[in-house]
Amino acid sequence: MGKVYLTGAGPGDIELLTLKAARVIGEADVIIYDRLANPKILEMARNGCKFIYVGKEDGRHILPQDQINETIYRMALQYETVVRLKGGDPFVFGRGGEEGAYLAERGIEFEVIPGITSAISVPAYAGIPVTHRGISVGFRVVTGHEDPNKPKSQIVWENFKTEETIIFLMGLHNLQEIAKKLIEIGKPKECPVAVISRGTTPQQKVVIGTLENIYQQAKDLPTPALIVVGKVVELRDQLRWFEELDS
Ligand code: SAH
Repeated sequence: MGKVYLTGAGPGDIELLTLKAARVIGEADVIIYDRLANPKILEMARNGCKFIYVGKEDGRHILPQDQINETIYRMALQYETVVRLKGGDPFVFGRGGEEGAYLAERGIEFEVIPGITSAISVPAYAGIPVTHRGISVGFRVVTGHEDPNKPKSQIVWENFKTEETIIFLMGLHNLQEIAKKLIEIGKPKECPVAVISRGTTPQQKVVIGTLENIYQQAKDLPTPALIVVGKVVELRDQLRWFEELDS
């Protein structure tokens, strides 16, 4: 029986891969990956490594999660080193916990290799620190996948009256509803918002607006994209750096 590495691939920029992830990718007999991982990472695998794409986009699977779990498990029965490669960090909206639990129940050994999550690194590449002395004492990372108007939403929107930074992942499709909801619960219409598309890659695009107008400005951006709400967004004026690099 083999061992499974639930591995974070980082947000896109290949140099944001950890040394540990790079090592196991180089040792892997099989790599099971989804769409967010920079495909160049696969070039680090050794000759003869098997690749299995289980395509995942915006948190939605082409293959249902139970089939992904089963695929990982079966690969672990056949191969010694199995890498389950996921965008960002495997435990931040990556369903890595479910995969780990499935393996644990079946007696398969696994390790978790955390990755640099897009939640903080994508804002950083846009020149937005998620906390800042005097501006934001904390940040929250929340799924934007739930439409706030749906009665079954598990998100307690009232909690977002906070001055803390809020980062929505998987939220571009619900941007209009999210912005509306935040205004409804009492956040100022002028509250700054950034939408960052394809962060940390050469295709990075950053759109800045307010809760009131961000939807109009950002709705057509390509995914993956995340939403940052809070005063820290204004720091970008001073701190933008990625777009200024000579490439
Ligand atoms: N485990 C991942 C998140 C998976 S959910 C992590 O830790 O980063 C997928 C969501 O992550 C996307 O819908 C988007 O909101 C965000 N995301 C991932 N990569 C991104 C990127 N390069 N730029 C902007 N958003 C990104």
